[in-house]
Amino acid sequence: MTVTKDPGAPRETQVVAEAKHLFDVQAYVDDFNRDVMNAYRGNAADAELPADRDAARSIIPPGTAAARDFSHLAPQIPEFIADRCVGCMSCVNACPDTAILGIALQTSIVEARIVSFAETEPISARASESARAHFVETKKYGEVPARHGLEPALFGIFVDPVHCKGCAECVEVCVALGYDALRMIDKARADANGEPTLEQYARDIRLYRSLPPTPPEYRNAKALADVMLGDHAIGYVGGAGSCSGCGEATAIRMLVAATGQTYGEEGMGIVASTGCNSVFALGPGGERRPPHLGDRRRRRDV
Ligand code: SF4
Ligand code: SF4
Repeated sequence: MTVTKDPGAPRETQVVAEAKHLFDVQAYVDDFNRDVMNAYRGNAADAELPADRDAARSIIPPGTAAARDFSHLAPQIPEFIADRCVGCMSCVNACPDTAILGIALQTSIVEARIVSFAETEPISARASESARAHFVETKKYGEVPARHGLEPALFGIFVDPVHCKGCAECVEVCVALGYDALRMIDKARADANGEPTLEQYARDIRLYRSLPPTPPEYRNAKALADVMLGDHAIGYVGGAGSCSGCGEATAIRMLVAATGQTYGEEGMGIVASTGCNSVFALGPGGERRPPHLGDRRRRRDV
């Protein structure tokens, strides 16, 4: 099970997908939020937290980074400029945190989903308008499939405001390729309609998560650029908060997606060994620590 949350929400609220894991992720997250976080908030962790047997042996449940929320930490977030996008997927592949997501769906499905989604939102016209701004017609997903008798697909880019840490890696790669379809904007601003940026992004990513995956006939399973369009692509849930442009997390993310595509999502495992393990940290006694409190000077690798 993969859990995630809305920006600023005190706890996880959404189950993204079902999967079997060796650990009960929800129970681990509940336990961590209740015991570990409360101990650190009360400044009593060092004195009161017992050593955690599993954490001290580097046995960390999968998916717990999904609980981390950058929505009020990063001051900026990428804005998508649809009419400049060619659907190259380079931004999605570059992101170290699974925070920018791509999708290709038949035009009729996109239209129907936007209409049904907007009907459930308090301001339907606004929800519909901002949803459509995420989609663009491209040669790769529109014209080429049409030549093979398929309905043209629209390509979409969405940014998850909970996981995006504002590193601008996606923007840099898009600009370097000459497309200029992404730019960083201040979260503190409101858009022309007066809607706060975070609220808009949170609503739009809810739409993305309600959409079906990219159909197989619209992606080339052998092309690296399309790996992150598969329904196996979100095995690395993001939220680790890797250093800006961290190549390690980006590579692991692609590796997880490619392995999931080839062997199935149950056919993989990752053993972390030292390096930039910002996804977890241990205190000197093996007690679990909130990820952002990881301290290289005190951490020991076990
Ligand atoms: S890198 Fe730029 S052009 Fe390519 S998919 Fe991302 S936004 Fe579109
Ligand atoms: S700014 Fe950084 S974390 Fe956010 S979507 Fe872009 S690459 Fe990912």
